[in-house]
Amino acid sequence: MWTGLDGFPAFCTGETVFSVLAEFTKRVHPESNAAWLKELFGNSYQTAITDLASNLDELEQRIPAVYGYDADYMINWHTTAPYHRLGQSESQTQKLYKAMKVKSFNATNVHIYAGNMHSGIRRPSFSRACTICIGVDRKKYGRTYWHRGHQLPGIEVCPLHGIYLTEVNLRNTQRHTFVTLEEVLATQAPIEPGTEMPDTRLINLAQDSYYLLTHPEIQVAREKTHQLYEAIARDRGMARRSGKMDFGGIDECAQLLFVGNTLTIQVVFASSSANCLDVSTSDETQCCLAFD
Ligand SMILES: [Zn+2]
Repeated sequence: MWTGLDGFPAFCTGETVFSVLAEFTKRVHPESNAAWLKELFGNSYQTAITDLASNLDELEQRIPAVYGYDADYMINWHTTAPYHRLGQSESQTQKLYKAMKVKSFNATNVHIYAGNMHSGIRRPSFSRACTICIGVDRKKYGRTYWHRGHQLPGIEVCPLHGIYLTEVNLRNTQRHTFVTLEEVLATQAPIEPGTEMPDTRLINLAQDSYYLLTHPEIQVAREKTHQLYEAIARDRGMARRSGKMDFGGIDECAQLLFVGNTLTIQVVFASSSANCLDVSTSDETQCCLAFD
C-alpha cells in the first residue's frame, strides 16, 4: 500500500521547501529524477525553485498529514513569499500564494507574481549562505541547509549574524533537481568568512526584511508605501510634467524599521545600474507609516 512520502524530513528553522526536498532526495536516492519529481508533485517536469515554490497543493497531498505541512504553512514559513508582500496589494499577494499552490508547469508565474520580473532589485543568480550559520546549523541539526532569509533579493547580509552572505555554486534558474547545501559545499572550495563588515544600514535592512519575512500575519499598507515613494520622488524632482513619477533608471531599496506598530520606511535611491544598494553613493530619506 502506498503511504505517501513517509520519511519526509522535518523542516529546520527557516529552511526552504527546496532545501527540505533536497534533503529528502538525498536520503531516498531515487534512480530517476523524472520519476522522483512525479512522485513528489505528480509530474516529471516540475521546476525546482530555490526561493519560492510551486505545485504545493500536490506536495501537501503526498506528505503524511500528521506532519502538519500544508501548503500555507510551507509558503509562510519555508519560502521567501512573505517578504514579497511589501508594495503589493492584497490581491497581488493572493495571486502569488495561489500560483505557488496550484498545479502549473510554468513556474515563471511564481516570480512574476512575486514582483521579481519588473523590479530594479533582481533575484540573486546564485544561492547564498552565511559562514557562521553553516557552523551553527551543523552543531544544532547535524547538517546545514538553505535558509530562506539568505535568498532575499536586495539583501546582502545575514540577518542573524550581520556579516556578508557568500554566493554558493548553485544557480537559481532553470533547475529541475534538488541539491542540498551540504552536497554543494562538498564540491566547492571552502568558504572563507568575509572580513569586511557591512555598513550598519545594510545590516538594518537585512534585519528588518527578516522581520517582515517572519511575521506573515502583518498587513503592509500598499497605498501608503506607494504614497511614500511618490512623495520622495517628488522631493527629488523625479515627477514628470504629467504628474506621473519617473522611476526610470533608478533602483530603490526600502529599509524597514519596525518600532512598536509603526513601520518606518527608509527609502534609499542607489545609482542607476546597481543591482543592490551602493551605500557610498546613495543618500536617504526617512518617513513614517502606520499599519492598517
Ligand atoms: Zn548567519
